[in-house]
Amino acid sequence: MGMRIGYGFDSHAFKAGVPLVIGGLAIEHPEGLAGHSDGDVLLHAITDALLGAVAAGDIGSYFPPTDKKWKGADSVIFLQEALRQVERAGFRVSNVDSTLILAEPKIGPHAKKLQSQVAKLLKIAVHAVGIKA
Ligand code: MG
Repeated sequence: MGMRIGYGFDSHAFKAGVPLVIGGLAIEHPEGLAGHSDGDVLLHAITDALLGAVAAGDIGSYFPPTDKKWKGADSVIFLQEALRQVERAGFRVSNVDSTLILAEPKIGPHAKKLQSQVAKLLKIAVHAVGIKA
C-alpha cells in the first residue's frame, strides 16, 4: 500500500461568551472560537487533512454549516467520520503534525494534554502527534 499525505487548514475568529475548545479539550479562556459547530479549529484542520489524504472531500461536504443539525456540534464527530473514510479507503493514520497560530492563550501549557487527546481520538501513539504553536 502506498503512502498518502493530507493537508488541512482552518481559521476561526474569537468570540466572547463561548467556551474555548481546541483538540476536543475545553481550555480556560475568556473567549472561545466562533463557528457553527464548537469551533474546534484543530480538529477541523486534522479532519480536512485526513479527508484530503484519501481524496474524500472536505469537512463541509459531510457536515455543511448550513445544516442546523451541526449547530454547536462536538467536532470529535467530524474527526471520527474522517477516520472512518481513511479506513474505508484502506489506509490508517500513522502520524499527524499541527501548528496552532494564535496570540492567546499560550498553547505550551496545554500541549501535552492536546497531544494525548488527539492521539486517543486518532487511535495512534502520543509520539505520533505533533502539536506546535
Ligand atoms: Mg472550522
